[in-house]
Formats: sequence, C-alpha cells, structure tokens
Amino acid sequence: MSRGLSNLVLLNVNHNKIRVLPPEIKGLANLETLSLTDNKLEVIPAEISFLEKLTEINLTNNNLVSLPQQLYSLPQLTKLYVAKNHLKELPEGILRLSKLRVLDVAGNRLTMFPMDFQFLHLEELFCEGNSFVQHELVESVQEMEVLYLKELAARLVLAECRRRPSFFCEALRLYPALADVLSQGGSCALCSQRFLTTWLECVQFVSLRKDMKMKSSQTVPVRVLLCSYSCFNRSGHMYYGVASA
Ligand SMILES: [Zn+2]
Repeated sequence: MSRGLSNLVLLNVNHNKIRVLPPEIKGLANLETLSLTDNKLEVIPAEISFLEKLTEINLTNNNLVSLPQQLYSLPQLTKLYVAKNHLKELPEGILRLSKLRVLDVAGNRLTMFPMDFQFLHLEELFCEGNSFVQHELVESVQEMEVLYLKELAARLVLAECRRRPSFFCEALRLYPALADVLSQGGSCALCSQRFLTTWLECVQFVSLRKDMKMKSSQTVPVRVLLCSYSCFNRSGHMYYGVASA
C-alpha cells in the first residue's frame, strides 16, 4: 500500500471494515494524520514507529485490546484518540510522548493510567466510561515478603551498580543478556530501590487541576510501584494498595 505514497500527509479511511494494518504502513514516512475511526482493528503494528512525522492518530471505535509500546516512539504526536476500544491498560513509558496535548481514552476498560502519567503536559483528557479503581483506602497488611533468589540477586546487583566504581557494573558488560534482563526492572516510588520482578502495585490519585494544571476538576488513578511492604507501611505517603480480585 505504501510504495509510491511516501508523500502522503493525511490518510483517512474512516468507516470501513479494516481489520489489519499491514506492516508496509512504515513506508508512509511523511504521514502527519492517520485516521481509522470506525473500523475493526484489533492490533496496531509495531511499524507505526516509522511514521515519525505523525502528529495525530485517530483510532476511535475499533476493537483494540492493546496498544504497541512503539506508539510512544512518535516524537511529534500531539493528539491521540483511542476512545471506544477494549483497552485494559496503556503501555508503560507514556512520558516519551512529550508533545502529547490531547488524549481521548473514553469508553475503554482502563483501571488506571501508566506510571508518570501526571508529568505529561496534557491540555485535554477524555476518560469517562472506564473501569478506574476507586478511591478507597486499602488497609495496609503486614506481610512478610519472601523474595526468591533471582529477585534477591537482581536487587543486589542493581544496588551495587549504582555505586561508582562498581565491580558488578564492569562485570555486566561481559554479560549483555543479563544486563538486558536487569534493565527491565523498575524502581520504588518511595525509596527508589530498584527491583526486577517483585513489587507492590499501588495507585496514587492525581488531580488534573492541581497536579497537571488542566481545567478539569477530575481525579484519576495513576500506577505506582513500591519495592516492599516495609515501604508501603511507611506513613506519610498517599499511595494506595490495589486489591487484587
Ligand atoms: Zn521502597
């Protein structure tokens, strides 16, 4: 579809029955607006990341169950419309969309927004009709965590790697596959200790007006990860445990 269309700036194929976007879409290198409202898409190909000039994507009213992380590789994206799909979550890393100003996720199944969502510079957010977790305090439960050897070893290496000079850091260069695994961990929102596979999922409730300087008075849940119950049980933070069903 793309050969010969590399100068295309706007592609509008709304109201069709499109089920699949071919990977060849990456040839539309000059595309700025992509509109696919009212189709039957279930996935967006990773090749979307090649469309670096995209400023606006409209995927309203499709059958999307997830979005590719590569969507966040679009440096110019300012408007993203994904209302009326079946999204349960947005990929982590949304802060990479530094130019995003308008986000429409209304009518999905989101329970919360991804980490660091509150640092986006949004002007408009539409998010009604989702399954957001409610603002209820889940009592902190004193539980002893049993960390497995893999997690213990990972935390040790990750902590050691913060010191300079570090023997572990030097050694990791010899094991790129291991470095790759370790890079997938996260860090605790309270103590900033890094971890690999074990964490406590929490939410914080972000005020669009106070925290994000938007006009809306709404409050939305944003994901936060903590390293341990001992951090969770600390006083003075506003992170709530997510009760798993
Ligand atoms: Zn912690």
